[in-house]
Amino acid sequence: MAKRIQFSETGTPDVLQYVDYQPQDPQAGEVQVENKAIGINYIDTYVRSGLYPPASFPAGLGTEAAGIVSKVGSDVTAVKPGDRVVYAQSALGAYSEFHNVPQEKIALLPDAISFEQAAASFLKGLTVYYLLRQTHEVQAGETILFHAAAGGVGLIACQWAKALGVKLIGTVGSDEKAERAKQAGAWATINYQKEDIAARVAELTGGEKVGVVYDSVGKDTFEKSLNSLKRRGLLVSFGNASGPVKGVDLAVLNQKGSLFVTRPSLNGYVTNREELAQASSELFSLIASGAIKVDVSDAQKFPLSEAKRAHETLESRVTQGSSLLIP
Ligand code: NDP
Repeated sequence: MAKRIQFSETGTPDVLQYVDYQPQDPQAGEVQVENKAIGINYIDTYVRSGLYPPASFPAGLGTEAAGIVSKVGSDVTAVKPGDRVVYAQSALGAYSEFHNVPQEKIALLPDAISFEQAAASFLKGLTVYYLLRQTHEVQAGETILFHAAAGGVGLIACQWAKALGVKLIGTVGSDEKAERAKQAGAWATINYQKEDIAARVAELTGGEKVGVVYDSVGKDTFEKSLNSLKRRGLLVSFGNASGPVKGVDLAVLNQKGSLFVTRPSLNGYVTNREELAQASSELFSLIASGAIKVDVSDAQKFPLSEAKRAHETLESRVTQGSSLLIP
C-alpha cells in the first residue's frame, strides 16, 4: 500500500483526506513515477473547492511532481526505470507517493536541477513561458503589468522578464511581497492593498500605460487591468485567485480604447512532446544558468499528509513563490 490525498466532496481544505491506496501498474504509454516532490498550484484549490470540480469521486488531486521512474507500461520510449523526471498537466492524483502519467507529459530532469526545484517550477515555468513568449511575445525594453508578482507563477515571471530585458510592474498584497518581487527582478511594484493600480501604472509609465496586462487574480482586478492598458492593449486573463470574471459587456473594450482580451491556459499551448521539449528546454536552461531561482523556503514545504494545511496557507495569501508537498 502507498499513501495519497483524496477527497469525496468539494469544499474547504477540510475535505482533503490522507489515505492508503494501491498504486496501479502503468497502462500502455504510461509511466509510473515515484514522486519525491509535489508541486502545489492554485488551480488545485479550484478543483478542491468545486470551481473546476473533478468528474467523479473519490478523486485524487494535483497534476505536477518530480521523482524517479519506477515502472513503465508498454510502448514507452521516452524514459526508463531509474530516470529522474518531472511532469505537469497529468490526470488528477499527483498528491501521492506514486502516480501514472502519459509519457507525453514527462520531461527528463537535468542533473543540475533538484526534484524540489523541478516541482516548484515546472507547471508555473511552462506557464510563464507561454505567457511571455507566445500569448504576447514580450520585447526587450517593453513595460508590462503582472499581477500577484510575489506568488509562484509571479516570482518566475519577474525573473524571466528581467532575463529578457522587460520592465515588469508587479502587483502584490503587502510591502514584504513587494520587496521579494523587486529582488526577483520586478522593475517596479504596486501594493494593491493601498495603491490605485491604474493610476500608479500611468504614473510609472509617464502617462502612457502598458500594452499588456497579465492577470491571474480575476474578478477583483479585471476592471483595474483594463484601465491600465493603453489603446489597443491586451489583457491576458489567466486565473481566478479572487474568483472568476463573469458577465463582461464587450462594449467596455471599445469604450476603453479598442482593447483585446484573451483567456488562455497551458493546455492550449503545451499540447505535445515537441511543444513540451521546446518550453522545458528554455525553462531548464534559465534555471541551470541561475537566471531563474526557484528554491522553496522550509515554511512552504509540507509533508504530503498535511495537504490541508498547505491549502489553507496558500489561500490565506501569506505565501511567497512556490509551495511543495513532500511524500
Ligand atoms: P500564487 O502563489 O500566485 O497564489 C495566488 C496569489 O494570488 C496569492 O498569493 C495572492 O497574492 C493573489 N491573490 C489576489 N487576490 C486573492 C484572493 N482573493 N485570494 C487568494 N489569493 C489572491 O499561485 P500560483 O502561482 O499557483 O498561481 C497563480 C495564478 O496563475 C493562479 O490564479 C492560477 O490559477 C493561475 N495559473 C493559470 C494557468 C493557466 O495556464 N491559465 C497555469 C498556472 C497558473 P497577493 O497577496 O500578493 O495578492
